[in-house]
Amino acid sequence: MVDVMRMSGRLSWWMATFVVLAFTSATVCRADSGGIPAGSASCPHVRVLTAHEASEVEDQFRPAIVSPGPNQMLALQSALDLLPPLACQAVRRVVFLNAVLPEAPEAIAWVGKSRPDLINISAVPGTASEERLTLDLSDLPNMDAEHNRQRKAAMVKVWPEVIHSVFHEAFHCATYLLEAAKGDSGTANGPWPPAAVAEARTALTRTETTGGFVQEWIRLNREFYETGLEEAYDSSRTGRKAAPPEGFMTYYGGHSPGEDIAETASWPAAMPLFDAAYGGVKPDLSDWKYACPKLAEYQGKGIPGEFAALYTKLQFLVDVGLMTEEAMSNCIGSGTMGLERNPGEVGFQFFEYQTWKPLTAYRVDVQSRRTADHLWLSGWGTLHHKGKSYKTLIELQFAVDEGSLPRGVYTITKCNDFAPASKLYASPVLFRRRIPDNPSQSICAYDAIALVSRATTKVIEGSVFVRKVWKFSKPPVPEVSGFPVHVVFGFEK
Ligand SMILES: [Zn+2]
Repeated sequence: MVDVMRMSGRLSWWMATFVVLAFTSATVCRADSGGIPAGSASCPHVRVLTAHEASEVEDQFRPAIVSPGPNQMLALQSALDLLPPLACQAVRRVVFLNAVLPEAPEAIAWVGKSRPDLINISAVPGTASEERLTLDLSDLPNMDAEHNRQRKAAMVKVWPEVIHSVFHEAFHCATYLLEAAKGDSGTANGPWPPAAVAEARTALTRTETTGGFVQEWIRLNREFYETGLEEAYDSSRTGRKAAPPEGFMTYYGGHSPGEDIAETASWPAAMPLFDAAYGGVKPDLSDWKYACPKLAEYQGKGIPGEFAALYTKLQFLVDVGLMTEEAMSNCIGSGTMGLERNPGEVGFQFFEYQTWKPLTAYRVDVQSRRTADHLWLSGWGTLHHKGKSYKTLIELQFAVDEGSLPRGVYTITKCNDFAPASKLYASPVLFRRRIPDNPSQSICAYDAIALVSRATTKVIEGSVFVRKVWKFSKPPVPEVSGFPVHVVFGFEK
């Protein structure tokens, strides 16, 4: 358990240091290196703007700049310390304002398009004001112990609320940075230094999303929606008190792709805040609904359909660098969800449908091959049939645009016959088992669903739920026995 308030002893020491720094930097070097360092050890470049730097703020907010108090600085520092490196790179400036965002007056923090590296924080009463963050946790004499506890638990909620709000906004900055780094030119518009753009560029290259992270996020969600595994975005969704729609981290996450990214990225990493005590009191967050506890409760194996979209989005955020592995496993918890695959296990592994008992593995001569518009994955193994053993090839193929990887959900609805390999490429998604020495036992799926839950230049992994197959006896017949099966695949470089 962390007690954020107990850090305030240290805070008063470095606040004193800031005051001195603020004076010197404001007079000596204004524009670029001015401002107060935000005091975050893990994100040290972030500056808190002073009234001298009003030109760095949107016109309407220039007269409203205020100097933050010690609690506001501590909340900011706590949010910045949670950021994974890429998100930290995206945030360069913060400003506290005695103003609200006119279109969302209740917002604690926001990021505007024109200054995508700047987090605006509202310091008016009811948002992230110093007064609201200054807790008087003494008991009221006319109240019994339980009511005093409840009152204080409601009061300290402001801390995780403010820290999470700032943290959430940082992912809007990160999304803008990734968008600025996309495309082929390798140059980016925007306020970020070349090192930050280079880091974003590396993230896009690693996930083969140089066409754009947001574009891929939208495509991913559309596929899940069209497969019935996720609800559609709806901009009327606000707040987090309603249950998250299927496929989303929170109710608000279902608002739009931008909020979905910020919500999916921010909640898992912020979970330690919810367990922390503030001035010795744990906050009452019972009306905050987010998906992680549900994921952790799941007791089956594999990645079930109802969580496939969210699981894949969490993994995508890990792969792009907006979430740590640790935050993702915090969210999934100690449940049993995940692929039945250990690192280094490549190729294909079949599992029994109900029991997830391992069946045949295909791990020999494992290959992944790219053509201009397809990715073809294969592995050899030995299948036993009527007392004989046969060398058997498993093939899985995805249609992908040049410069991109398969990711998310794919429905297999037809089997393109046992065409020679050259003709395989006509089929968008295909799964088949070929037995060259006993072709009548070869099969091809015509009713299956494939999930690519992770895709980077180093690792491609996922599973195929194969419901129905054709068996290529003469004439071909729909095979019944032995299906459905789960097939887990993994390819590593
Ligand atoms: Zn937002």
